[in-house]
Amino acid sequence: MVWGRRRRARRWLDGWEQVAETALPQWSLLDDRERARLGARVEHLVRRKHWEAARGFELTQEVVITIAASAGLLALGLDRDCYRHVKAVVVHPKTFTSHGVRATHVRGVVTRGPQRLLGHARDGRGPVMLSWRAVRRDVRHPERRQNVVVHEFAHKLDSADGLFDGTPEITDRADRAEWVQVCNREYRRLRRRPEPDPVLRRYATKSPAEFFSVASEVFLMQPLALEEHHPELYRVLCGYYGQDPAGRERHP
Ligand SMILES: [Zn+2]
Repeated sequence: MVWGRRRRARRWLDGWEQVAETALPQWSLLDDRERARLGARVEHLVRRKHWEAARGFELTQEVVITIAASAGLLALGLDRDCYRHVKAVVVHPKTFTSHGVRATHVRGVVTRGPQRLLGHARDGRGPVMLSWRAVRRDVRHPERRQNVVVHEFAHKLDSADGLFDGTPEITDRADRAEWVQVCNREYRRLRRRPEPDPVLRRYATKSPAEFFSVASEVFLMQPLALEEHHPELYRVLCGYYGQDPAGRERHP
């Protein structure tokens, strides 16, 4: 069984760069060092997490590497173990329905309706659940600037300290205090704002946790616009994520 899983992982990882190039609009901006680092993140996710297909869906290299590449890009400047609470990734073919305890916006759910989910990242040690249709839509339409994989894995980073509150693990006390101050201010401003924000979509006002996940998506998908419209938020995100995506876009 373990041998079978190893072989499957090796098959998925063989030639992963071609899949990542298609999956990530940022691929062409990464230098050799960043691509090597991304490769290490992708390999860690593929080998160490339990990958599962729901409802007869089949996991292919395209499915697994597309997801691992986005999650890996988000973690490019973080510790290798940053996703240690993610034990499993479950991929559904389409939108899926939440069962058991009713998930709400506050608990980290992306939904188009009351129960139909595009992605779900339970706090604690639950799996990351994703709709492949939603993941593929984000890849095929980069102009929408959304990334459900980044969104759900950001929820996992948020809850790594046991709290689902929009503040991930930041060990330095001064950095943490600055994070809380900046994010609280930006979140309150966004909620009060009568007109739509140029970069942060309305969903970010649901809760501090959703604010963090939406901001994390924008950090990677529209870094120049985020830096322009929310420079302080951009700066604390750079500090936490240990990368500067806007700098990458300015100096490819
Ligand atoms: Zn969410």
